[in-house]
Amino acid sequence: MSLLWQARFFTTVNHLRDLPKTQVPEIAFAGRSNAGKSSAINILCNQKKLAFASKTPGRTQHINYFSIGGAHVGQHRKDPTVVEEIRGLLVDLPGYGYAEVPGEAKSHWNQLLGTYIQSRPQLAALVLIMDARRPFTELDVQMLEWFAPTGKPVHCLLTKSDKLNRNESTNALRLAHTVLSSYVDAQGQRFPFTVQLFSALKRTGLEEASDRIIALLGLSNEDDAVDANGDGDLDDQDKKNPGERGRSPGQ
Ligand code: GDP
Repeated sequence: MSLLWQARFFTTVNHLRDLPKTQVPEIAFAGRSNAGKSSAINILCNQKKLAFASKTPGRTQHINYFSIGGAHVGQHRKDPTVVEEIRGLLVDLPGYGYAEVPGEAKSHWNQLLGTYIQSRPQLAALVLIMDARRPFTELDVQMLEWFAPTGKPVHCLLTKSDKLNRNESTNALRLAHTVLSSYVDAQGQRFPFTVQLFSALKRTGLEEASDRIIALLGLSNEDDAVDANGDGDLDDQDKKNPGERGRSPGQ
């Protein structure tokens, strides 16, 4: 079981002043609308509708936060999230590139997104979601260029890779490596940019992406609490020996 399965809706933000005061590491998901961002978040978190809130009309331009830790995993549990126990946050940034977004909303987007990714100290890394068939659109490049000066890592997911055959996939990955390695700082050093193929439909690259995200958050699946029967409770033995939590068989 991945630590990301613990994800739970936390809050929605439409103004920088409303960003949560939490100090735990955050990892943000960015991408062109329709690139497959919601599908990727949902499958990584093993939940059908977690990133659905981001698609609600009127909320598409907002920043949606999901918490890891601080609450029971089971979706049926309605107990409140204990903010002090949150260990990391997944941040679903507004999808960009909507043709129909008017100028005013676009500049709101620029301001909100640009400032957030460039100056949020808690932000540990960015996951850039791009359709494997047409990666590095103008706005994807804009995101990379906004973020690069922070020196923080970017992990790119080339989504919908099921739409490519083996040859096309290899080429897409190679091309992405070439593009990413072309970014260098003033000293000629490459930025910490990585890339992988991903398909929410076929679950391609799921484990690799999940492991990478957990590592970028500074967390580890190893210290995940056991929830072997999936009811949101630690099993009996763990309740007795909270200090001796292990991984359940099959994890
Ligand atoms: P978002 O706008 O970036 O959040 O994109 P969505 O996750 O809503 O996906 C946009 C469309 O692409 C939907 O019709 C999805 O069903 C489809 N889609 C998403 N991921 C995949 C994938 O891995 N493979 C395929 N074939 N389609 C996908």
